[in-house]
Amino acid sequence: MTNSSSSNTYKNIQGAIRRAGEDLGFSESTITTITNPYNVINESVMVEGIDTPINMYRVQFNNALGPYKGGIRFHPDVDLDEVKTLAITMMLKCSLVGIPMGGAKGGATLNPEDYTETEIEAVARAWVRTMHEYIGVDKDIPAPDVNTNGQIMSYMLDEFEHIVGRSEPGMITGKPIALGGSLGREQATSQGGVYALLKMIEYFPEKVGKKRVVIQGFGNVGSFAATLLAEEGFTIVGISDSRGAVYSGSGLEVHMVAEKKKTSNQSLHEMFDDHDDVLKISNEELLLQDCDILIPAALENQITEANAKDIQAHIILELANNPTSQTADDILKERGVLVIPDFLANAGGVTVSYFEWVQNRAQYYWTAKEVDEKLFQFMVDATDRVYTLSQKESLTLREAGFRLAVERVGRALELRGQK
Ligand code: NAD
Repeated sequence: MTNSSSSNTYKNIQGAIRRAGEDLGFSESTITTITNPYNVINESVMVEGIDTPINMYRVQFNNALGPYKGGIRFHPDVDLDEVKTLAITMMLKCSLVGIPMGGAKGGATLNPEDYTETEIEAVARAWVRTMHEYIGVDKDIPAPDVNTNGQIMSYMLDEFEHIVGRSEPGMITGKPIALGGSLGREQATSQGGVYALLKMIEYFPEKVGKKRVVIQGFGNVGSFAATLLAEEGFTIVGISDSRGAVYSGSGLEVHMVAEKKKTSNQSLHEMFDDHDDVLKISNEELLLQDCDILIPAALENQITEANAKDIQAHIILELANNPTSQTADDILKERGVLVIPDFLANAGGVTVSYFEWVQNRAQYYWTAKEVDEKLFQFMVDATDRVYTLSQKESLTLREAGFRLAVERVGRALELRGQK
């Protein structure tokens, strides 16, 4: 995502919050509070073994509903605008699904492929040393995002506990099970998205067509979405990674591809031989292929003015954060494409992160079945509320989601006397 597209997305989200806040009758000062971050931490940090300083960020957007919550991204495009955009989205997400947490996001500007594992560990530890005063179990709870994972969360937990001198597993989520992680966290974002999709399909059965799905991105979120949907009887006709896409009208063996991706460094293009049934295409081409459901599960700003009018899907399930530009959203609305917005579709991840935090605080751990049942309840409840309001007020699902999310944060601010 370029600086300017992050900055546009941020302004568009602020604008949508403002419209929702005005419709709900909130005061100007409440709306100003909801649309601006409480704390911005941005440091250039020297890391052991690395010659040049690395920019590190934490944006704490709003904690009216509870401690700040949001992942940490390691990516060369990470900048302040991007982190602010992701933090405001976290605030909306936590509020919409009804968990007692606020919004935050963090990052470090680097391409992990340029560094050794030891150097990445050093970056993770340096990030915690830089941010330790601002984070903690009752303050701000980070988690993984693009290019960070359970191992990186483990280094961060270890560094934090060394600094504070006590055990505090709930200071970070997305940990491996052995360090207090929750069962079900790994696939939670995708599983939550599948629950939201299945519920929405009950309301719009005509949109599901032949249940053919295209997924952009085959990392944590995209690969679990593919296998979970295949298990639900959907046919996954197209998938992609950063190096290209594959498409097969008769469907791809996604379980096999997911296994292979875990154990080899091969790209999807390298994995498939050239044959008639599987087309090797570009990521741009993938989005325009024949399908019923399109799932962006990679990076921001992939569905734009340039391609929205040619997308063939009837439903878009936004598992990535902010994958659709505002102009594209308007085009899709006009064309009658049902867009299940990111802050509903991918909220399963933060929901199970919240469950992890609850379990860490109680030091009492749930079974996979308990986690899944609770996730199902949260996702179905939020999906129902969004659908019901959208019907009642003739809003898109995104507009209804904004209204519900802003209402909860705004009321919390009013109750605190911050009007
Ligand atoms: P990941 O790093 O595991 O996977 C990202 C995938 O996208 C990889 O397959 C990568 O090859 C692919 N990719 C990168 N650039 C691409 C491009 N230009 N075109 C197509 N594919 C590209 O990340 P993830 O955790 O799966 O996250 C994916 C998206 O979901 C991000 O937007 C993230 O913010 C969002 N998200 C993740 C979670 C979570 O729990 N992991 C929760 C909520 C939202």
